Parts: sequence; C-alpha cells; structure tokens
Amino acid sequence: MKYKLIKKCVVSVSHQVDVPYDSPCRNAHGHDWGITIQVEGNMLRPEGFLIDPDDIENVINSLNYKHLNNTMQTNPTAENVAVWVAAGVDSIIDEFWGGGHGARPFVTEVIIQEKEEQIVYTPTSKPLQG
Ligand SMILES: [Zn+2]
Repeated sequence: MKYKLIKKCVVSVSHQVDVPYDSPCRNAHGHDWGITIQVEGNMLRPEGFLIDPDDIENVINSLNYKHLNNTMQTNPTAENVAVWVAAGVDSIIDEFWGGGHGARPFVTEVIIQEKEEQIVYTPTSKPLQG
C-alpha cells in the first residue's frame, strides 16, 4: 500500500536574492510563505505513520523569522529553499530508516506559495520504490 503525508506550515522569512540583473528581489524583503511538503512511502514506522509530522514542522519552522541568506549556503530562492527543506526532512527519515533502506519514505514534493498568485513547485529526484 502506498501512503502519502502532506504537511503545510507558514513561515515568515526575509532574504535578498542574488541575480545578475536589476530586480527588486536584490533588496532585503520579507515573505509569509506557505510551505507544503509531501512524503510518500510503502512502509510505516511501528507507530503507524510515515514520519512524525512534528519532525517536518520542526524543519520548516527552523526558518521562521530568519534572514535566509544567513541560514542557507545557496542563493535563497524559493526553489533552493524547497530543496533545503526536502534535504532536512530527508535526513530525519534517514535517521529512522537508514539511508540505504530501499523502502524508506521519500520527500516527493515541496510547494512554496510565495504569494497568492505565485507558487514554486519543486519535485524531488528521489525515486519511490515499489
Ligand atoms: Zn523574495
């Protein structure tokens, strides 16, 4: 059976995006981002869930009220933040299942709603077994 967990958190962040052209994104500015993450897998933990939703919330909320340029090693675009969130949740899954476990759950999608009319959708590259 395939299981899917979808978790959404809202965080307030600020950043300055490094682009080689004139853009308002180069100025420090803030966002209230809705970050939705999807985890899928075929096996549940003994407790009966794919991943504890509180663990996901802790990863996403670690960005709350942060200036992302000080938090991330990469240019803090929404796309890179999505990759950062996916990697953080993936490392929690690894802690439980171990990285080499083929049937472990995977982060399959991260969506960042920057504005009502602008959404960044970032599928992850991890394959889902089975
Ligand atoms: Zn921005």
